[in-house]
Amino acid sequence: MIAGGGPVGLATAVYAARAGLDVAVVEPRTGTIDKACGEGLMPGAVTALADLGVRPDGRDLLGIRYVHEPHRAEAAFRHGVGRGVRRTVLHAALRQAASDAAVKILPRAVRRVEQDRHRVLVDDEPGRYLVVADGLHSPVRRYLGLDARPSRRARRYGLRAHVEVSPWTSFVEVYWAPDAEAYVTPVADNLVGIAVLTSRPTQFYEMMVRFPALAARVGRGFDSDRRTHVRGAGPLRQRSRRRVDGRVLLVGDASGYVDALTGEGIALGLAQGRAAVDAVVAGEPRGYGRAWLQLTWRHNLLTAGLLAASRSRMLRSRIVPTAEAVPAVFEAAVNQLARPV
Ligand SMILES: Cc1cc2nc3c(=O)[nH]c(=O)nc-3n(C[C@H](O)[C@H](O)[C@H](O)COP(=O)(O)OP(=O)(O)OC[C@H]3O[C@@H](n4cnc5c(N)ncnc54)[C@H](O)[C@@H]3O)c2cc1C
Repeated sequence: MIAGGGPVGLATAVYAARAGLDVAVVEPRTGTIDKACGEGLMPGAVTALADLGVRPDGRDLLGIRYVHEPHRAEAAFRHGVGRGVRRTVLHAALRQAASDAAVKILPRAVRRVEQDRHRVLVDDEPGRYLVVADGLHSPVRRYLGLDARPSRRARRYGLRAHVEVSPWTSFVEVYWAPDAEAYVTPVADNLVGIAVLTSRPTQFYEMMVRFPALAARVGRGFDSDRRTHVRGAGPLRQRSRRRVDGRVLLVGDASGYVDALTGEGIALGLAQGRAAVDAVVAGEPRGYGRAWLQLTWRHNLLTAGLLAASRSRMLRSRIVPTAEAVPAVFEAAVNQLARPV
């Protein structure tokens, strides 16, 4: 059984069905689910989705560009292309893939989990294993006592909206301001997503004055009839004490999350889902704990390092100029994060 029918839960269900397992997803929200997300699929996510037969509509992404006027640094993806995909388009495509794979979707929330050596009882329904994919603030992780102490560092939040303008680039652009970053991702021919990450959230559109170079690009796109409502998420940093607890395995954001700064949440979640299914098929759930570490440590280290630098006012102002001055280092870091997981 899988708790949570977001992208990672659904993809895990398709991996499980393909491996010949009988699988059901428990998800309280019906229909297509939207969520605050930068909507940039890294090349690793695009490849993993294609392996599942999922090719969502969107816009190809060729690399990452950092902008802190007058400085700019960019790095092209070396291993394939990424894709900007509206979250709703991604969810609908994965839901279709799950339905094609005969995955059952049970429209309710998981409220109670008990287990012994042979089975898991999820709200009294028996199963062999439970994969927990119920997101950043995972109620099931908390219920099972697997929440780690919250970080004492400044909390960060994400806000996201869309503007109706023609995309002006095939790169994900990251605009740096002293206390926030704006991530700009083209997702359709006349739609660009903007996600802002900050420890001091205020009104999304009011924050745009902090990004004059972006505002100049978007122009009339910020007019009230061309912009969408705002969605938010956070605090972003969440940790789990363990990724495996008996017959329960944690994947995706539920297994822990550092920050959206490097945009690889979906790619990592898909890789974790696949590894969890491999462990279940092998009858070795504990092997997933080791696989999770192997899949995740490099991303977590790079994201935490960049996050630490961005917290210092002095270092923060040097990030884009340094990336511009040593493009090989920037390119190597981007491609470490973007490569197939
Ligand atoms: C601002 C922002 C920008 C981001 N940008 C990017 C990006 O550009 N690229 C990228 O790859 N990643 C990005 N991410 C990260 C990405 O959004 C997440 O990694 C991804 O959504 C994780 O998917 P998930 O399926 O684990 O969780 P979710 O998408 O959160 O899905 C969890 C599901 O569990 C369900 N659920 C909740 N409680 C229960 C319960 N008790 N029982 C059953 N189900 C339950 C929920 O209804 C939900 O459908 C960003 C995140 C943020 C916040």
